[in-house]
Amino acid sequence: MTQFPSRPARVLVTGGAGYIGSHCCKALSRAGMVPVVYDNLSRGHADAVRWGAFMKGDLRDRARLVQVLRDERIDAVIHFAAFAYVGESVHEPQMYYDNNVGGMIALLGAMQEMGVKTLVFSSSCATYGVPTHMPIDETMAQAPINPYGRSKLICEWMMEDAATAWGLSYAALRYFNAAGSDPEFELSERHDPETHLIPLALMAAEGTGAPLQVFGTDYPTPDGTCVRDYIHVGDLARAHVLALDALRAGAGPLKLNLGTGKGTSVQEILDAVERVTGHAVPHIDSPRRAGDPPELVANPARAREALGFEAQWTNIDEIVGHAAPWFAERPVGAPKVA
Ligand code: UDP
Repeated sequence: MTQFPSRPARVLVTGGAGYIGSHCCKALSRAGMVPVVYDNLSRGHADAVRWGAFMKGDLRDRARLVQVLRDERIDAVIHFAAFAYVGESVHEPQMYYDNNVGGMIALLGAMQEMGVKTLVFSSSCATYGVPTHMPIDETMAQAPINPYGRSKLICEWMMEDAATAWGLSYAALRYFNAAGSDPEFELSERHDPETHLIPLALMAAEGTGAPLQVFGTDYPTPDGTCVRDYIHVGDLARAHVLALDALRAGAGPLKLNLGTGKGTSVQEILDAVERVTGHAVPHIDSPRRAGDPPELVANPARAREALGFEAQWTNIDEIVGHAAPWFAERPVGAPKVA
């Protein structure tokens, strides 16, 4: 097992200026660790770096990564930095492989060179493709159906090979739908461009965005709209800290779904947005979006057993409520709650 110094762990957070990464930095800091953000700001936000130092750099720049791992005395890495839009990946596959897979090649090379052997990786339920049963457990074959999911699965394979070759200790955390934002309103949910259901529905309800297009109302689900497992970003952040603790305590490779186990339909999200904001969501029933399976819900049992992790925020009104203030007025992301 890797020996760790007795001082607080110093953790490189790639993509730490992004949505989930920034929430994770706060959780690491609360847990007594020292986050160091590495981000090229191509999609992240400098003002989201509030816990720990900021090292600007591109993930594919191995020399820069080596320098930061050395100078910042990094003990472990949590790797979020990646492109994460399924639709975009279908149209720009090389861009996805270059950034997501190329970034992982550089990161693993730099970690091996510097003897940093602990890695928590942001994977996705998109690695499963079209599920063969529901809920989805980790024994389901991984058969991704788009370049984004494939790029994440390739990264999982690379970590597996690095574990065999030079003793990398890793966790692949397969998220379902990250949602909500910091309950203390210090961090927001912000994507650029915004494509996600809850932010778009909030903007539509508040009149700060266009009417929401409901992608498909004829699915074989109870109300005809897609069902997803929305997990609070604060819960995701906490799961990363737990995974890091487990690896540092000697746990073997961890391959874990992170979800709540509870499915919520698009229509149920619109109902929640209406309850939270007091406004109905103007919407247009639209054709199905390519590549959207009817239902994606996690079986969260393995994460519970391996990490003692259980989602705290499972009430959809609470999840929507934590995101809502950031969408109430223009520009997007301007907080109503100080
Ligand atoms: N969705 C929708 N209208 C939108 C955006 C999303 O109906 O403008 C649906 C989408 O088809 C999916 C669910 O909302 O069933 C969640 O989509 P999102 O893009 O938020 O996350 P994804 O599931 O793609 O990771």
